[in-house]
Amino acid sequence: MPFLTQLADVARRTGHPVTEVSGWRGRGHGPQPEVQGIVCHHTAGPAGGGDYPSLAVVRDGRPGLEGPLSHFGLGRSGHIYVIAAGRCWHNAPSTSAFHDNSSSIGIEAENDGSQPWPAEQLDAYRKLCAELCREFGLPASRVKAHREVNTSKPDPHSIDMDDFRAAVAALVGGEPAPGDPGPGGSWTEDIVKQLPLVRLGDDNFDVKTVRGCLFARGHVPPAAYAQVADGLEGWLKSTLCDDQLVELVRGFQQAEGLDADGEVGPRTWPSLLRV
Ligand SMILES: [Zn+2]
Repeated sequence: MPFLTQLADVARRTGHPVTEVSGWRGRGHGPQPEVQGIVCHHTAGPAGGGDYPSLAVVRDGRPGLEGPLSHFGLGRSGHIYVIAAGRCWHNAPSTSAFHDNSSSIGIEAENDGSQPWPAEQLDAYRKLCAELCREFGLPASRVKAHREVNTSKPDPHSIDMDDFRAAVAALVGGEPAPGDPGPGGSWTEDIVKQLPLVRLGDDNFDVKTVRGCLFARGHVPPAAYAQVADGLEGWLKSTLCDDQLVELVRGFQQAEGLDADGEVGPRTWPSLLRV
């Protein structure tokens, strides 16, 4: 499965200390379909509690939202925690097609929501965004505050994002990273080729990926999970491709102008994974 197992190496290029949180390479809500943007958050965690007291929440989730919540944690000291290589629930709904959960990387920086940002933490924040822009061939304009792509969010507080992006752009400079495929390049196409056919009766992790994608695309009405234990959470966790899921896939295919055969294969995956 195409998880972003290069993220620790990317983080180390910042020069700031990096901790690889146990299990990060296989952690995610399925694979990360693509990377078209970066979303900056603050944790709204406790004011004290050390360098990164929100680690358990970002890794494991909170009531009503299963972890991982972001790919990276950023401690007050500028220490970077690599938490997940797959998709994370950090921005839904998104007002930007480049910054929803299926298309962006999330960074959760420790801050209670009002305390001042330590200089070392801000330095690491900018450098991590710059290295991610290099790695995934993104312009600095694709770095967004959560509040810029989700109108109900305040984070990260008090950071002037135009100044922040200017600093990121300066760090990225004119030197492209070696082997950079560019936005929307072969990297996404390779991932789609590796994804299997999902159809009625299948019972595996890929079914969960289909469920998550359908939900992220707005093709799962509340009625679909009204009868399920644990509601939406339970529905998203199911690994079984049943009649109901096939019908939802058909609805998605019809909306996308695809052959409505109810099977997720090489023609449906790209529509499901791209915005
Ligand atoms: Zn946020």
